[in-house]
Amino acid sequence: MSFVVAIDGPAGAGKGTVTKQVGEKLELINIDTGAMFRCVTLNLLQEKIRLEEQEKIQEILDKIEIDMKETGEIFLNGECVSHKIREDEVNNLVSPVSLNKSVREKLLELQRKIAQGKDIIMEGRDIGTVVFPNADVKIYLDASPEERAKRRMKQNEEKGINSSYEEVLKNIMDRDKRDSTRDIAPLKRAKDAIYIDSTNMIIEEVVDKIVEIVGERKKER
Ligand code: C5P
Repeated sequence: MSFVVAIDGPAGAGKGTVTKQVGEKLELINIDTGAMFRCVTLNLLQEKIRLEEQEKIQEILDKIEIDMKETGEIFLNGECVSHKIREDEVNNLVSPVSLNKSVREKLLELQRKIAQGKDIIMEGRDIGTVVFPNADVKIYLDASPEERAKRRMKQNEEKGINSSYEEVLKNIMDRDKRDSTRDIAPLKRAKDAIYIDSTNMIIEEVVDKIVEIVGERKKER
């Protein structure tokens, strides 16, 4: 039987780094669902398809191939897009794209398929509420918007991406608002999720805490 750890939370809460490290420590396959929404967004931009063009969006979804390698590289229709999907153009459009019902249905199907029969740790916005409502462990990882903007700035710097604090903070707040107020699969804490506020925690502390929670849950099973 597979074991599922769901990590949800707003943009920049540290889900990516934490999920990767917990996955490595516990030998769980790491699946970043935000990257999947980013791939669809990039594909729409590449094909110059607007959000109103539902038929064309469906055509894209019918043939899209998203391949997430164990190395962390992400391939969209055969092209490595690990960096492209983190650029501003995608940052600004991904949240509106993720409102689209067909996009969500397609990715929900892919997310469940990728995880079938495996021990996984999956991060996103609706993993504990919609994708795996019966996940073995559910974590809701949060931090203040200002702290999250600071972390994004640091990540951008490391990747050589130039950005202003005000712009990053605005993008984070806009996305949070859109993600948490949408009708389908909004960002929200599942009733049975463990809430972790990482504002004043370092990554290692968060990782250790989740590893401990997962360890205890495994013992109970
Ligand atoms: O996690 P990340 O910031 O890369 O996610 C990008 C966007 O994808 C989010 O702002 C959200 O709009 C969307 N998303 C989603 N559901 C998920 C994961 C991401 O709607 N499970």
